[in-house]
Amino acid sequence: MTDMKSDVVDHFKATLRGPLLQPGDPDYDGARTLWNAMVERRPAFIARCSGTADVLAAVAFARAHGLPLAVRGGGHNIAGNALCDDGLVIDLSAMRAVRVDPEARIARAGGGATLADLDHETQAYGLAVPTGINSTTGLAGLTLGGGFGWLSRTLGLAVDNLVGAEIVTADGRRRHIGPDREPDLFWAIRGGGGNFGVVTEFEFALHPVGPEVTAGLVVFPFSQAQTVLRQYRDLVGNLPDEVSIWAVLRRAPPLPFLPPEVHGEPIVALAVFSPLPFETALPLAAPLRWFGTVLGEHVGAVPYAAWQQAFDPLLAPGARNYWKSHNFKALSDEAIDVVCQYAGTLPTPHCEIFLGLIGGRANRVAADATAYPHRDVLYAMNVHGRWLDPAEDASVIGWSRAFFSAAAPFAAGSVYINFLTQDEGARIQEAYGGNYDRLVQVKRRYDPENLFRFNHNIRPDG
Ligand SMILES: Cc1cc2nc3c(=O)[nH]c(=O)nc-3n(C[C@H](O)[C@H](O)[C@H](O)COP(=O)(O)OP(=O)(O)OC[C@H]3O[C@@H](n4cnc5c(N)ncnc54)[C@H](O)[C@@H]3O)c2cc1C
Repeated sequence: MTDMKSDVVDHFKATLRGPLLQPGDPDYDGARTLWNAMVERRPAFIARCSGTADVLAAVAFARAHGLPLAVRGGGHNIAGNALCDDGLVIDLSAMRAVRVDPEARIARAGGGATLADLDHETQAYGLAVPTGINSTTGLAGLTLGGGFGWLSRTLGLAVDNLVGAEIVTADGRRRHIGPDREPDLFWAIRGGGGNFGVVTEFEFALHPVGPEVTAGLVVFPFSQAQTVLRQYRDLVGNLPDEVSIWAVLRRAPPLPFLPPEVHGEPIVALAVFSPLPFETALPLAAPLRWFGTVLGEHVGAVPYAAWQQAFDPLLAPGARNYWKSHNFKALSDEAIDVVCQYAGTLPTPHCEIFLGLIGGRANRVAADATAYPHRDVLYAMNVHGRWLDPAEDASVIGWSRAFFSAAAPFAAGSVYINFLTQDEGARIQEAYGGNYDRLVQVKRRYDPENLFRFNHNIRPDG
């Protein structure tokens, strides 16, 4: 713990409008709790910033005193990079304002906003930004890594819709960046994570979506997973951009449209989404009803903001989590066999394997147009090792790693940076592919001393 003099700390506190939390303060433990309960860190200070002025003061303080500096957006990242031990955390959770300019079709969102915050404000105008599938996720971390979800095939990634940002860089300057203002830095933050500074505000292009969209689940028994997944693979190869279907293998949650005897049983669920109206969308997704014996189905017109929250109960904070992820350009029969083999041995009822479908518009962008490079990837596969009892750490982590290794020969050899765990530093270059060297150059220019290093770190020395 820091031995900083109290008058120095008091002076820092007086420069902030938001609170400065320290060990022993009533809000301190809550402020160091992350989505992933595996992460346990004790910062010396947590500056709950109320605006850009507080962020400027906090960056200056960390620099002046040589403190480790971490930045917290939504606190969802599996690796727990939002916290550091013994240093200063810039906590943006009070900076969640979202302003919508419906005429210009621009949304401006604070660096601590969640996906739910953004959807709430934008949907009031029947507008949306393509983001991710779990509404409690931080918009900042998601966007800075790329950001894909239900709308990506239709509207591109979150970064493809980012038109500007306000960022505080390591030299203590506030910069307003965009395609024509410091384009290298703007390029780097569209996939390069929190390596380049603290983004205090994001500016997104908005699109008409909803308020009602078509979405829901079709559920099959796990015993048919192999044949369901093969047909799924064949269908999604020819899907229009306006439809997305993700596959999830897990034990059935107690969903009201599933018979009670199915609850808790292993299943394969296909999650269908389209921004099109029900009458237009349903025929496009209808073939999947004949993939096997449907245990339950619930696809219809739903409010977009509600569908964005549909998976929140399965991904609630507080559980222990260990993930492993591969990108796939295609799903071979052998890859499907491995998925089914390991989905057949899920070590806890909370574990799941999912195949997130990308492609569509997200893949019609050049690989070097943004720092996010994976424009030829069709599926991001994620193993969600998830459990409650620390006694199960070794068995769930072991299962996740074994599956990851078994699937590796069929994967694309790349990975989405936002799905990397803490122990996967060696995969950072893999996550940036051909864009890595340019990211190092931008890092050298804007953060030569690596002040922002509690992230999937792009080191200035390469
Ligand atoms: C349940 C769940 C569902 C998910 N679903 C999706 C999905 O559908 N699509 C998808 O693309 N990803 C998804 N992700 C991954 C998600 O994008 C990452 O975990 C992301 O890092 C979360 O952002 P955050 O702000 O909540 O994270 P944090 O843990 O707060 O931060 C993550 C990293 O970003 C940095 N950072 C955060 N805010 C800022 C800022 N304002 N300025 C600079 N740096 C900052 C942090 O320092 C840290 O290094 C999901 C994650 C979870 C846990």
